[in-house]
Amino acid sequence: MATDPIPSSLFQSAVFDEYLDNARMHAGHYLRRLPDRHVAARAGRDELLSALRMPLPQHGDEGGEVIDLLAQQAERGAVACNSPRYFGFVVGGAYPVALAADWLVSTWDQNAGIYAISPLVSVVEEIAGQWLLDLFDLPRESGVGFVTGCQMANFTCLAAARHQMLRRAGWDVEADGLQGAPRLHVVASAESHVTIDVALRYLGLGTRSVHRVETDAQGRMNADRLRKVVASIEGPMIVCAQAGNVNTGAFDPLREVAEVVRERGAWLHVDGAFGLWARASESLRGLADGIELADSWATDAHKWLNVPYDCGVAIVRHAQDHREAMTSQAAYLIQTHGEERDAVDWVPEFSRRARGVPVYATLRALGKGGVQDLIDASCERARQMADALRTADGVQVLNDVVLNQVLVRFGDDDDLTRAVIAGVQRDGTCWLGGTTWQGKAAMRISVSNWATSEDDAERSVAAILRVFHALHAAAGTA
Ligand SMILES: *Cc1c(COP(=O)(O)O)cnc(C)c1O
Repeated sequence: MATDPIPSSLFQSAVFDEYLDNARMHAGHYLRRLPDRHVAARAGRDELLSALRMPLPQHGDEGGEVIDLLAQQAERGAVACNSPRYFGFVVGGAYPVALAADWLVSTWDQNAGIYAISPLVSVVEEIAGQWLLDLFDLPRESGVGFVTGCQMANFTCLAAARHQMLRRAGWDVEADGLQGAPRLHVVASAESHVTIDVALRYLGLGTRSVHRVETDAQGRMNADRLRKVVASIEGPMIVCAQAGNVNTGAFDPLREVAEVVRERGAWLHVDGAFGLWARASESLRGLADGIELADSWATDAHKWLNVPYDCGVAIVRHAQDHREAMTSQAAYLIQTHGEERDAVDWVPEFSRRARGVPVYATLRALGKGGVQDLIDASCERARQMADALRTADGVQVLNDVVLNQVLVRFGDDDDLTRAVIAGVQRDGTCWLGGTTWQGKAAMRISVSNWATSEDDAERSVAAILRVFHALHAAAGTA
């Protein structure tokens, strides 16, 4: 039935309540089932298309029915990646207060780009940014931008780096672009995350000419090699280091790296998508020793802080360079000239979601102690799983479990390892993925969810070993 135009009296009618109550009911159902449901998706593209696809109708369906349909399809079509037994990639699950704050964000529907549209969001994000600097113990005068994820955080930080390094070489990259610009060298760890390469592509710096620095068995940048590489290149330079290798969780030797980079007068950027959170834990912060000497830091809130997707954070020591690389001005924009903060000055987006609000809510509800407990507990569960797995015959843990990441190999065999991973995914008790680590197939376990308990870790290990033993027995009898 067509309902156009929708009268504003709908605000007073029961329509919002009816839809929201319906969504609330579906959400409650989804969340209650989450800890016990099959973790993988059960429906694939064909099933979902046949349930959801139709020619775009001339007259729309009733809204409540549309919500029912989507909720129904999530039962089989969604992966329970916010389940306490989801260990794939590096993925958190929405913490309760973060989810509730995110609902408010959608309800308020603020365009968080400029203060003039939302003093509330501007102030909340200003505070959330200061809290993060305090939590990570980074320079309090740094610029902070809430972006979609660490991909865009890397982009934003590297844009600020490009701005400063070329300005110091007498070049205005925002006005003149890169054509005819002095050569800007990029040095990165051989193990840098793929999103660093993507950011370099977006920034016109390309990937082919990146100077790659060798890493050790844990994936840590070799500082002596870095020193040699840096000494062999002249001109403006950006060095990309890493806090938290996506496979092993290892940290580059950041203090040494920072000293080399500072001596050279280059810019040091650190990708700390999840590793930066080690700074919130007294027992782990030594891993990130020296990180405070960097010029910029990229991290995620949707991973280890467990806010709902999406939220990354770009932090730049030199706020002026950060702002000059990002700011946009247009005649109709009402930008502030005082203390008030316009998000457009700090992020690539123009119109944007108020993604700093769930960060504020979560930090306020957890406090420093709560964040520390969350980080420590994830690492404790990772160690628990590694210890239980490595005691089984034929199972190897390939990395030093320094953080929340574990690499596991079965029968010292690529095919068997991949078969175990596929078998565990089918089994549905937990979900984890695979990788190739230094030429060998490995299972990746990443513990990043606030809800993962000792019992979840135990049940998951049991499922992994059950699948491994069954495959092993089948191979023996074949
Ligand atoms: C996840 C990750 C990224 C990319 O973050 P997104 O939030 O997916 O954009 C970058 N670097 C590292 C080390 C990561 O783990």
